[in-house]
Amino acid sequence: MEQRKVMINVRDLNKSFGDLHVLKDVNLEVHERDVVVLIGASGSGKSTLLRCLNFLEYKQSGTITIDGKVVEPENTDLNKVRQEVGMVFQHFNLFPHKTVLENVIEAPLMVKKVPSDQAVQEGRALLKKVGLADKEDVYPSKLSGGQKQRVAIARSLAMKPKIMLFDEPTSALDPELVGEVLATMKDLAREGMTMLVVTHEMGFAREAADTVVYMHDGKIVEKGNPSQIFSQPQNQRTKDFLGTIL
Ligand code: ADP
Ligand code: MG
Repeated sequence: MEQRKVMINVRDLNKSFGDLHVLKDVNLEVHERDVVVLIGASGSGKSTLLRCLNFLEYKQSGTITIDGKVVEPENTDLNKVRQEVGMVFQHFNLFPHKTVLENVIEAPLMVKKVPSDQAVQEGRALLKKVGLADKEDVYPSKLSGGQKQRVAIARSLAMKPKIMLFDEPTSALDPELVGEVLATMKDLAREGMTMLVVTHEMGFAREAADTVVYMHDGKIVEKGNPSQIFSQPQNQRTKDFLGTIL
């Protein structure tokens, strides 16, 4: 058996907001080059889990290991971790007064101090990868939602992350724009990016996921490969959830 690195290892993770216990002893492994799709009803804790992995939220207990290193917020350079763990959100938050290329190269220039000609060269290559080579001088307001989200993906990739987290990246898009963003994500998966994706796009899960994880009420209740989860869900809650969306 091929031994692949565990890129994300979550052990007994608990997270509360005040009295609200949101993540309950969550255990999850994502191996290098794997695409894991996280599904579950609204409010089940999917975004909170992703935000804990990017340290936008801090856990109460449990262990988070990223690429072999246990990350404890108190004694870790979280900016460094956030460079390794890219995140794409439902809303793109591009800088409106910067061009597409300027958006993509901002963090490499400012955070990583990459020389400007190198940042531009890499930025252009990323825009080509997401199919927006001809838009580098355009401002975000001139782009469609799907194009903006592809810029957001390129911007995240510009930091050369080892892992990409996606939190419902197509949920805010008009239906006709969903496909182009999913296609970009599938390309990324094919190139071997390690990805953890929250989405309601079950077609994407079937096609691109190695593992589908179903979350209910802060707990992971079932995981398996897409055909197992979609054709033979074992847990009644998974069956009920899939019944509402498929
Ligand atoms: P999902 O992404 O699966 O819809 P979330 O992780 O966003 O779920 O939310 C899980 C629960 O945590 C919900 O009850 C939500 O209201 C609550 N929650 C999320 N973020 C916060 C916060 N910053 N403060 C208080 N409650 C929160
Ligand atoms: Mg969410």
